[in-house]
Amino acid sequence: MRTALISDIHSNLSALETVLADIDRRGVDRILSLGDIVGYGPDPKECVDLVATRCEWSLMGNHDFGVLYEPTNFNASAEAAAYWTRRQLEPPKHANGNADASYDRDEAVRRWDFLGQLRVRVQFGPFLCVHGSPRRPINEYIFPEDPLNASKKLRDIFARMKPSRVCLVGHTHVPGVFTDDPDFLPAAEMADGMYTFSDQDPVIVNPGSVGQPRDLDPRASYAILETGENFEPQSVQFLRLDYDIERTVAKIAAIDDLNNWLGERLLEGR
Ligand code: ZN
Repeated sequence: MRTALISDIHSNLSALETVLADIDRRGVDRILSLGDIVGYGPDPKECVDLVATRCEWSLMGNHDFGVLYEPTNFNASAEAAAYWTRRQLEPPKHANGNADASYDRDEAVRRWDFLGQLRVRVQFGPFLCVHGSPRRPINEYIFPEDPLNASKKLRDIFARMKPSRVCLVGHTHVPGVFTDDPDFLPAAEMADGMYTFSDQDPVIVNPGSVGQPRDLDPRASYAILETGENFEPQSVQFLRLDYDIERTVAKIAAIDDLNNWLGERLLEGR
């Protein structure tokens, strides 16, 4: 089975459309989203609708949670973006709560319910899927530096994901594979961006971010996972795509509640 793994779209429609078109060209059996559909970017409605129609399921990310409930531990511009996103998505309490005649309240309710029903963890075969980490599924980062600086943290995380053999995560926006040595293999250093599952050792796979890469490569990132008949892990191919970044930057610049820096960082991939 070929499964496209997308994560951290962050309301970047231009990036999401480019990734979905590439997925369609390559042919996959299904698409999974590892969370953070919204936050930071200018097109929350369109991105939620595309994920709802194109993905088999999506996980709850910390930004999805922040928009629905409370943005905790967000910096000032992320928090302002979360409240702006909530105003775009939350249906008015009363049917006549929006003066705009073209406003479709049922559509808004459907979208808000879709976000509210996102799951925190999903398992299939030997896979465990969480946005952050198996210990703190919504909020904990598994950083590329952790194998060097926090090997106990990584050991705890690997212990926590048992009996699953492969954990799929997003959240850091950096694509690659963690092994339990522990080590981190950046996707950029793999031949053809390809990782082959070689033995029974557990690994953690991050497909990187569709809408806000942070590995100094501004191209959209996603991955295609190949599995056998009973979801036996075979390989992951990491992919990068140029997309119309300027289109997203211009939209962010036109929205007062979105700090221009949120656009500038897209150009630098950080
Ligand atoms: Zn994110």
